[in-house]
Amino acid sequence: MQVPLLDLKPQYRTMAGEIQAAIEKVCESQQFILGPGVKELEASVAAYSQCRHGIGVSSGTDALLLALMALGIGPGDAVITSPFTFFATAGTIARAGARPLFCDIDPVTFNLSPAALETFIERYCERRGGELLHRGSGARVRALMPVHLYGQVADMLPLMESARRYGLKVIEDAAQAIGAEDAEHKRAGSFGDIGCLSFFPTKNLGAFGDAGMCVTNDAALAERMAVLRVHGGKPKYYHALIGGNFRLDELQAVVLSVKLKRLDDWTAGRQRNAAFYDAAFRRARLDEAVRTPHACLGVRHIYNQYVIRARERDALRAHLTAAGVGTEIYYPVPLHLQQCFAYLGCKVGDYPQSERAAAETLALPVYPELTEVQLQYVVDTIAAYYRL
Ligand SMILES: *Cc1c(COP(=O)(O)O)cnc(C)c1O
Repeated sequence: MQVPLLDLKPQYRTMAGEIQAAIEKVCESQQFILGPGVKELEASVAAYSQCRHGIGVSSGTDALLLALMALGIGPGDAVITSPFTFFATAGTIARAGARPLFCDIDPVTFNLSPAALETFIERYCERRGGELLHRGSGARVRALMPVHLYGQVADMLPLMESARRYGLKVIEDAAQAIGAEDAEHKRAGSFGDIGCLSFFPTKNLGAFGDAGMCVTNDAALAERMAVLRVHGGKPKYYHALIGGNFRLDELQAVVLSVKLKRLDDWTAGRQRNAAFYDAAFRRARLDEAVRTPHACLGVRHIYNQYVIRARERDALRAHLTAAGVGTEIYYPVPLHLQQCFAYLGCKVGDYPQSERAAAETLALPVYPELTEVQLQYVVDTIAAYYRL
């Protein structure tokens, strides 16, 4: 049996006609840049994310960069984030000219720990004249960038409370979390100043290439991002700001609008598969070897990834690969230990929960079209490994 980590083909087959018609319409119009399809998608994704404004951009990475630029974050500034995330989270902070500062994760959810944030600020930062300074680097701490990893929102209530208390802006990296909710039904992207979504093909709402969006409830920030997206030109060819080309293609937008209508069904499929795994792992009595993901009480976890902690993770992964089961490690090297961030001066042991997660976690196939036979095969294959 083959169980790929992700196979987008069965999903495409269910809507191929509708997508091809939408693409054909754009081809007929020959309007490829910022057309009506982009506007429509911006309105529907913003509403879906409980925000008033959506700014379609070229990728999730560019959404993060644009958000940082719109908030005026640059040289001399610092942004606090999680070291256990995709590279773009901290990569964009550095590209904006600011310094990434890391706080460790909660070992249960893998998301930024509110307690670690408080401890970090108390120990390593000080207030000086209305500003929060990072003592080690002298940088002004301007923003917090929590990540809603794997499709579950970070613990936003206490994180927002800390951010408000210290005057920090909040940029949510919601690349993996479109439609994820906390227990009060508040959605990813709607908590902070700006939420950043990715439509990379492996995300729950995936384009036919790269695409992303910034969502916000702040009209002035929305306007600023819309201008920065087109090189900062407003009116065209008159530049009060230096922006970039961060535009979303019309072709991608119309594909995404067709798919957005089906997103809740796909999410339900992922949740069903996650529940199947949870029950099957319980039945297999692998508690010593495997820890299944924890969805916090009452939240809407959208399971962009179903990630277990596993004893002998790398050997288990090899066993699964040999048995035809696709897996992935998100992410094998925490960001504070990446070579390109050596200048930050972090070392092994600085963020033990992130380092442990990097060594123990493994993502299993969870996409909606998987059959129960396939899911059971994955669990049986894992059980067989530990019973060898
Ligand atoms: C995918 C992802 C991004 C980047 O999105 P792209 O569209 O690939 O540029 C950023 N942060 C996280 C957590 C992601 O998973």
